[in-house]
Amino acid sequence: MHRILSVNPSLPQHIEQIAHAPEVYRPFACPHCGVAGLWLHGFYERKPDRDGPAAVSLNPVLVARFCCGACGRTCSRLPLCIAPRRWHPWAKQQRVLLDLLAGASLRGAALCAGVACHTARRWRDWLHAGTATFAFMLRSRFPELGRGGDGPGFWTACLSAMPLAEAMAWADHEVSVP
Ligand SMILES: [Zn+2]
Repeated sequence: MHRILSVNPSLPQHIEQIAHAPEVYRPFACPHCGVAGLWLHGFYERKPDRDGPAAVSLNPVLVARFCCGACGRTCSRLPLCIAPRRWHPWAKQQRVLLDLLAGASLRGAALCAGVACHTARRWRDWLHAGTATFAFMLRSRFPELGRGGDGPGFWTACLSAMPLAEAMAWADHEVSVP
């Protein structure tokens, strides 16, 4: 099951979606047992942007939870504006990564994005560690990304073709990200 849906790149869009049509996030089948026919089973709260400009007004936002009638387990899916298992949105991670690719120092990139230096370092190391895997998966769908070479060149090509959130939504078809 894809945990990231390629919908709602901004938090206000997601909030609107949850208020009026949360079924968009319903998986076709249970990720645990494969049986179809999940039903909406409430919501949980999520902080998608720990200390960004949206923090005060929009945090936390609701994420729809779905329950499987066959095995009784629950699951949920996230929009493009919320990164799984992270307190910062993809857009902020992308900004740090683009600054680093452009030659900025870790401290400088972190300062510009308003995150701690160790957070920026973690994102950089995560991207570095996953480059071979992400490049392989994304090039199988977007062959034009093959021109950037490996390593930093791949990410420069990738992030000029699509936002990090979309790249991760594609990658999420094959592996669990981040
Ligand atoms: Zn199930």
